[in-house]
Amino acid sequence: MDSLAIVGAGAAGAAAAYRLRDSDRDVTVFEKSRGVCGRAATRRRDGCHYDYGANYVKPGDGPVADLVRDLGEDGLVEIGEPVWTFDGDGTVAPGRDSDEPKWTWETGLTQLAKRLFARTDATLRKETRVGTLARTETGWTLAETDGRRFGEFDDVLLTPPAPQTADLLADAHWDDDRRETLREAAADVSYRSIVTAVLHYPFELDREWYGLVNTDDAHAVGWLSREACKDGHVPAGEALLIVQMAPDWSREHYDAPASEQTAVAAEHAADLLDDDRLLDPDWTDTQGWRYALPDEAVDSEPVAAASEAGLHVAGDWVAGEARVHAAVESGLAAADRIR
Ligand SMILES: Cc1cc2nc3c(=O)[nH]c(=O)nc-3n(C[C@H](O)[C@H](O)[C@H](O)COP(=O)(O)OP(=O)(O)OC[C@H]3O[C@@H](n4cnc5c(N)ncnc54)[C@H](O)[C@@H]3O)c2cc1C
Repeated sequence: MDSLAIVGAGAAGAAAAYRLRDSDRDVTVFEKSRGVCGRAATRRRDGCHYDYGANYVKPGDGPVADLVRDLGEDGLVEIGEPVWTFDGDGTVAPGRDSDEPKWTWETGLTQLAKRLFARTDATLRKETRVGTLARTETGWTLAETDGRRFGEFDDVLLTPPAPQTADLLADAHWDDDRRETLREAAADVSYRSIVTAVLHYPFELDREWYGLVNTDDAHAVGWLSREACKDGHVPAGEALLIVQMAPDWSREHYDAPASEQTAVAAEHAADLLDDDRLLDPDWTDTQGWRYALPDEAVDSEPVAAASEAGLHVAGDWVAGEARVHAAVESGLAAADRIR
């Protein structure tokens, strides 16, 4: 039986495993974290579920919309309230939104990968960081950073963000020009960083909108949203705000203490929503996403060339769009190539 190793259990890796569920391929997925779904991440605390990476999946009419529905409508949440805008002066206005549904699940966006994997026979090895890969006569071997080997595979699919994939390729034992050209192409993909601040309050916060997006890139905040608009995410009588700091601010303050990051986020939330109670959340959480959003797609030629040797890549940086549905599509396409 042919075998495939997938590195990364994010949207792309999960979609690839799902696409190959009916093939006779033996699939093993290696994921460095405890959970699945990568940057489409959910945490739980005190009865709240909150999506602190990607906020939702908005697949339009494409194949990913059908796939999401196929995963079962139980627990699927469509966010009904609109997205409004704000500018550099903090002026909030009704605005930019589309009719396309925005989805998550009652227990969070990680359900996407969890449900995809649940429909496969893939072996999922969490808390397993792949450190190196090596070409053999017949396929590929993977190893942990300490040298422990994970066996041999006919094909490998790498789905970490481009800079991390470039690091893996830099250390790979594969004496072939295709390794270096793919490494260079992956290293050339630039990323925006985002610091996410999570602010919880013991009172409700009624507004007409679900989210506010900054439209002129002239504010320290890029996005602010109310998790209470997602069924199952916030108990009645409470509010939980997700504040994503803008890429410039996030880069400059990436290593600042979490308490400073949340204090700035709370000040901006109070200002934008004109509500001083927001200065004082009763609990907070933060996450820095160094490689949050790729700015462009990787050059496709080195990707195709490496594929011919059984070394494949997928992810939002391969699709060229920093969206969950694009990562899913990329994973599905990689699986089709591998098949
Ligand atoms: C703050 C933020 C907000 C966003 N908002 C939205 C939004 O609202 N809607 C939207 O559609 N998109 C949004 N995005 C983008 C979306 O999250 C990504 O496009 C998508 O999740 C990328 O999926 P992926 O599978 O390509 O990569 P990832 O999700 O990054 O998955 C890669 C996986 O590889 C694992 N990994 C890395 N290195 C190794 C290794 N050496 N060994 C084993 N495992 C490894 C990682 O742990 C990770 O699980 C947002 C992103 C961020 C950060």
